[in-house]
Amino acid sequence: MSQRVEVHGHTVSPEHYIDGQRVGSASTFEDRSPIDGSLLAEVCRGDAATADAAISAAVRAFPAWAALGPEGRAPYLHRLADLIDKHVDHIAEVECWDMAMLERSLKARVIGRGARNFRAYADLACEYTERVWESNGTTNRVVRNPSGPAVVITPWNAPFMLSTWKCAPALAAGCTVVLKPAEWSPLSCSLLFDLVDKADFPPGVFNLVQGIGEEVGAALTTDRRVRRLSFTGSPETARHIGRAGAENIVPFTAELGGKNPFLVFADADLDAAAAKAALQYDDAGQVCLSGTRLLVEESVVDAFLERFHRNVDAQVLGDPHDETTTISPLIHPDHLARVAGFVDRARANGDEILRGGKVSDLGGNWYEQTLIRPTSNDSEIVQHEVFGPVLTIQTFTTEEEAVALANSTEYGLSGILFTADAERADRIGRAVRAGTFWVNCFLVRDLTAPFGGAGISGIGREGGDYALDFYSDLKTLQILDGTVS
Ligand code: NAD
Repeated sequence: MSQRVEVHGHTVSPEHYIDGQRVGSASTFEDRSPIDGSLLAEVCRGDAATADAAISAAVRAFPAWAALGPEGRAPYLHRLADLIDKHVDHIAEVECWDMAMLERSLKARVIGRGARNFRAYADLACEYTERVWESNGTTNRVVRNPSGPAVVITPWNAPFMLSTWKCAPALAAGCTVVLKPAEWSPLSCSLLFDLVDKADFPPGVFNLVQGIGEEVGAALTTDRRVRRLSFTGSPETARHIGRAGAENIVPFTAELGGKNPFLVFADADLDAAAAKAALQYDDAGQVCLSGTRLLVEESVVDAFLERFHRNVDAQVLGDPHDETTTISPLIHPDHLARVAGFVDRARANGDEILRGGKVSDLGGNWYEQTLIRPTSNDSEIVQHEVFGPVLTIQTFTTEEEAVALANSTEYGLSGILFTADAERADRIGRAVRAGTFWVNCFLVRDLTAPFGGAGISGIGREGGDYALDFYSDLKTLQILDGTVS
């Protein structure tokens, strides 16, 4: 009987899930709530032996899972999706304690997206049409072969949704998977594996390993039996994982940080632009896609700022369980110190703090929504991802200047533009370096669209067929015409 712990009325396993079973570890790490610092669980701290056991299970399970084909695998993914839908509240309540995203957002959309990920990829894998063509008297076809065991490493923000986003296409494509979630919010992914168990996945197909990145994470990514590495997190960690991939000749995708431009032109609907700009503080700014650099046409900056401040003034910092709260605490005291450090250095640099700039009076991990006017585009606060409720504001007078500012960091994850001019929308949408660019909207995504980053925001694309291709070895099968019947 595996061990379980009580988390505010929910029971959660602090153990790994390997080869269809809960498995413990001799050592553990503390998982504390960002809301009140309380100890939620002592979670199993995987080591090299844990990584070896999980990958061995994935290797053993791979041939039979691959042989099922997309149609044979789809029912498992659909069953899991249905189970997620039935347990949305349970998962949302635990993730709220563990990561402090607003409970109502988790319940209304974020956790349900996990179910949609499994359903969408199960269906998409079945719909694949092989490209077939004639050349040199032969028939060519492009066949997708599952590539082998995959390791998926995920960050602490939106842990359930982001993990399902990566694991669903891997499983649908026929890979077996070892998932390692982040150590600051490990619990909702553990709940996923209660459902994997209920959905009767064959043992070893889908495994969970808990632990510290530099320990079990490194052991997983350097194992030569792994055939795909899929990572979401910071550029620093991506460099480690990239080196492991290079050593073992293993393809990897990396979805990394952003320092995304939020452009506002004088012809834009300023009410809509300011309202969306204020929403960049959602989840305390711990969203990789957030438009953290406000770039506003000089002639409307005062009108924009007046509207922006009005929207931010209406936001409420508080307990993410509370219906009236709009801004939650940061994930961890160490992260709070990191965010505060960025702002303190900006202040010391002479950058102007237009609002916020300090830990909230609520104490704990809450940090005030902060807006900074930098002295220069080279300021650290403009050039580096903070991953907290900190925005900068700069102005431009021409479209060329706006694009140059937008493209002036090493990142290239997303971009947001507010304008009423269709030609400008097209020109700027093409010119700004970004994996995803939104015009007059934000965070609306189609799961079949490619997703990823340019520059140091990432390598490779996931989403739709792009993800299924990544988890497959594409093969050209060529048969001489007239030789087979
Ligand atoms: P992180 O890089 O510190 O950690 C991410 C994961 O990597 C964790 O599971 C961690 O345990 C693991 N890890 C750390 N060192 C490792 C190693 N040496 N080998 C293997 N695994 C290791 O990132 P984080 O702080 O958890 O997440 C925040 C970052 O993630 C931000 O930069 C944010 O922008 C980015 N992010 C990007 C996207 C996207 O889709 N582009 C989405 C969410 C978050």
